[in-house]
Amino acid sequence: MQIIYPEEGAKYPFVTRSFTLGNAAPGSTMTINGVPIAVHREGGFLAMVDLATGPFLLRYEASLDGVTAGATRMIEVAQPHGLPSSKPDEAVAYEPSESLALLPGDLLAVRCKGPAGSIGTFRIEDLAKELPMAEHPSIPTVYEGHYYVQPGDEGEGLDISCALRTPKNHTLKAEAKGKLTVLDPRLSRVAVTTARSAVLKSAKSGYSLFLPPGVRLETAGRSGDTVRIKLSEHEESWANASDLRFLPEGTPPPHSEVGLSVSVGATPSSTKVVIRSSERVPFEVAHSIEPLRFEVRFFGASHHVDRIRYRPDDPVVKDVRWRQEDSRVVRFSVDTELWWGWGYDATYDERGNFVLDIRRPPDLTKGDVLRGRRIVLDPGHGPGTSAVGPLGTTERDVNLAIGLQLRDLLVKEGAEVFLTRISSDGPPLGDRPFLAWEAKGDLYLSLHNNALPMTADPFEGQHGYMNFFYQPHSRPFAAAMHASYNKERKELPDEGLWWGNLAVCRVPQMPAVLTESAYMIFPEQEVRLRAPAYQKEVAQTLLEGIRSFYESYRKLQLRRKPERRAARAK
Ligand SMILES: [Zn+2]
Repeated sequence: MQIIYPEEGAKYPFVTRSFTLGNAAPGSTMTINGVPIAVHREGGFLAMVDLATGPFLLRYEASLDGVTAGATRMIEVAQPHGLPSSKPDEAVAYEPSESLALLPGDLLAVRCKGPAGSIGTFRIEDLAKELPMAEHPSIPTVYEGHYYVQPGDEGEGLDISCALRTPKNHTLKAEAKGKLTVLDPRLSRVAVTTARSAVLKSAKSGYSLFLPPGVRLETAGRSGDTVRIKLSEHEESWANASDLRFLPEGTPPPHSEVGLSVSVGATPSSTKVVIRSSERVPFEVAHSIEPLRFEVRFFGASHHVDRIRYRPDDPVVKDVRWRQEDSRVVRFSVDTELWWGWGYDATYDERGNFVLDIRRPPDLTKGDVLRGRRIVLDPGHGPGTSAVGPLGTTERDVNLAIGLQLRDLLVKEGAEVFLTRISSDGPPLGDRPFLAWEAKGDLYLSLHNNALPMTADPFEGQHGYMNFFYQPHSRPFAAAMHASYNKERKELPDEGLWWGNLAVCRVPQMPAVLTESAYMIFPEQEVRLRAPAYQKEVAQTLLEGIRSFYESYRKLQLRRKPERRAARAK
């Protein structure tokens, strides 16, 4: 018998049930913690089991022809609401869990767990004592307090601790792991992006900006390894400290005059809108299709637009407009003649000018749509983890096998194929979008097969194929892929077309889709996915999806003159 999932010592969030998978000799009867479960005809099993919080033992037993085999897994299930485990007569200060750097006016939240019905207070070393804490109205044993950092407060690495007087009149004390540093509000702190693509999030999650190296940012505090970035009077964002380098104190906050000159120009494959900028400040690009239109916002900027140069022969850009949106934000709107477009790149050039590089679509009006196309296939995962099926089939191997089959089919149709990996080794996830752009791909397709998180019940609802896109210009490609699954993969349930915030879908420079063909974790789907003949059928479905996307663009080009002009311009 082999237990594939969970691993020994696995840590679970608070759940009362979860699933486990593995295999036994085909024909075995099996129990987990005494409860009988079904074994698939090829030996794989997937079953839900009841769990309890704390350390929990799973006992597996399989028997066949009077021979019995056993295995165990010890796991750890977290407390409800993600609370730390504690003894009945103990207080635990669990927030702040990481050190904070705050400015006057910022809020510090403190949370502590201890006996119900206590009276709670907390203190901040050198700054405040005996601040009240209130017991949470619906989660007894949780005590919450807060403090607004005051003008004049100062200190570095200050301890934060709470005290609970219990109903039995004991006093329990606990110190939080996170410390408080109060920043000097008279000074700005400036950092510069060093990562290939620094990701700024609107809160601690929620992606918003993707910045090239060399962009200067005004910072305004820190929580653990996350740095708060001040974008405008009303907007802030968060970045990983490891993506930034701090500049010496005294460096003035970034400010750019944007638009001193704006020009529209052409390269053999794109139309560039170049906006002069006196400094590399953070920017945000949003776009919509039907028709293709861009909105670019510069933060820490004021406009200084004198002239906008258009090229009468440029078939793409219709109009460039701008306005000062608030005292620190300038917005440029770029209207185009295109309906969908073919992706874009946005960055600063060597001279520091902002460049919006709008890709022109390929000319699909003549010959076979797949001939001469340059398609990037990305078999998901690599040396690291990927989903594993009950019989031990790994997702990364299945993804690669399907990718290689699809490559052969595409090459037969006259397409050029670039694979992000051709062995079980492979580049890190974050590098793959860059590889696709370096390969100057026409299309980017990331190949995956699915699993479920430990909080899900695999026996609830239907599980089959899904397609994901992120950029608006990728949606027609995702829709074409999905329609191909609808037509060709009737043995699998349709889980829908999704917008997904996934790194490989965020590629802006070409239509990009991530596809989840089937599930590794269901015994019957795994048995199919292992078979080369089925892998080829899936590859055929993907080929038809790719072809039908190009066909739909061909129809668009035949119908709309601007689309044709853009494809043929040199
Ligand atoms: Zn995957």
